[in-house]
Amino acid sequence: MTTLLRNGIVLPMTGGRTLLDPGSVLVEGTDIVAVGPVAEVDTDPRAAGAEVVDLTGHAVLPGLHNCHLHSGLLRGTAESLSLWDWLKTYVDPAHRALTPEIARVASLHCYAEGLLAGTTSVMDMWRFMEGSAEVADRLGLRATLVPYVADEEGYDYFETIETNRRLLETHAVAADGRVRSWVGLEHLLYCTPTAFRAAADLAEEFGTGIHTHSSESLWEVQESLTRFGRRPVEELHNRGVLGERTVVAHCVWLDDREIQVLAATGTSVAHCPCSNMKLSSGPARVGAMRAAGIAVGLGSDGEKENNNLDLLEEMKFASLLQKVTTLDPTTGDPWDVLTMATIEGARALGLDAVTGSLEVGKRADIATVDLRGLHTTPILHGADQNVPAHLVFSASGRDVRDVWVDGRRLVAGGQPTTFDVASVRAEAQAAAEELFARRAALTKS
Ligand SMILES: [Zn+2]
Repeated sequence: MTTLLRNGIVLPMTGGRTLLDPGSVLVEGTDIVAVGPVAEVDTDPRAAGAEVVDLTGHAVLPGLHNCHLHSGLLRGTAESLSLWDWLKTYVDPAHRALTPEIARVASLHCYAEGLLAGTTSVMDMWRFMEGSAEVADRLGLRATLVPYVADEEGYDYFETIETNRRLLETHAVAADGRVRSWVGLEHLLYCTPTAFRAAADLAEEFGTGIHTHSSESLWEVQESLTRFGRRPVEELHNRGVLGERTVVAHCVWLDDREIQVLAATGTSVAHCPCSNMKLSSGPARVGAMRAAGIAVGLGSDGEKENNNLDLLEEMKFASLLQKVTTLDPTTGDPWDVLTMATIEGARALGLDAVTGSLEVGKRADIATVDLRGLHTTPILHGADQNVPAHLVFSASGRDVRDVWVDGRRLVAGGQPTTFDVASVRAEAQAAAEELFARRAALTKS
């Protein structure tokens, strides 16, 4: 099967700040086989007989990578608290009430929402993830599954190293390589040194990555200094989990030395600007981290702390947060933010050889964005080109028209091809009601 994505404004994201305007992308089977000016790709012999998708007035970009997500069903119910109060009051009780079936529906809901908004790859830290693997396989997106392991006293309802191992045994790589499992550690303060050692061993044994949270709030940095005598990233290093296959979410309150440690170990970062603003955590030093060579991808964090999974919107917040906290309008440049959402996110997840840019030989993971709305008018070309800025500042996930993963069209003209929105909504509604009833019963007892 060959598909010609024809006459769009193509952002290849291959390093330069260049657009193909107009340009086309030719997809054969799972792969991109040509990217170039319209006339050039039209004359490619492989384009003869291809299904043509006319993308006049659309941007064509690599599918977006959500490098830090928690599936969930708590949206809009856990507001106006700081991180640690919010965890204690809302999030941890919901974890206690969670069942495998509710967890599966939460992933279905979140992956479906992300996919419709142009996300082709998620890293999800969640629970009972066999169900997440099943829905990721069915929906067709790329997913890196990371169980929430915790073992400190009082957190025994989380996943364990043993359940993480079981997931790896069955789902280390699944769904033709689209679904992978990693080792997950909730947090420095939720996991003992024993869990960290076991996690590092498990990742080594299965040749897989590690994902955890760190340095999200100032309180946590202080607590780490008090308990361990080290700042959080230094303590993570001390516990042997930093490295080229490790992604740390947040990294808001890092000092220069911690940035050096992340860079020297090749550790990547998932930056979650909405969450960091909403929980009043603070602004991450994105410029300093990227200047040190750290791959910084974007993450939505959970639906409960965002409260949507729209990475186009996340790009705007990523840019504005940098501008307002550095007082430097040259930060948060649209091309930089687009890079983080695409190829740099793929690099953070260790997927950049496969996806993250539009180039020959990579998998066809592609999103198109309709730019014909009033909010993305005018579209200008050449020296005046404004499409990168439109994507970051004007467009939203609702403007996404098509999504392909591995060459398979998962969203066509705004409609999903692998699920039904009304059914997902109904399942999510029922599962959320069950979760809240279970949580209320547990809180009473
Ligand atoms: Zn998180």
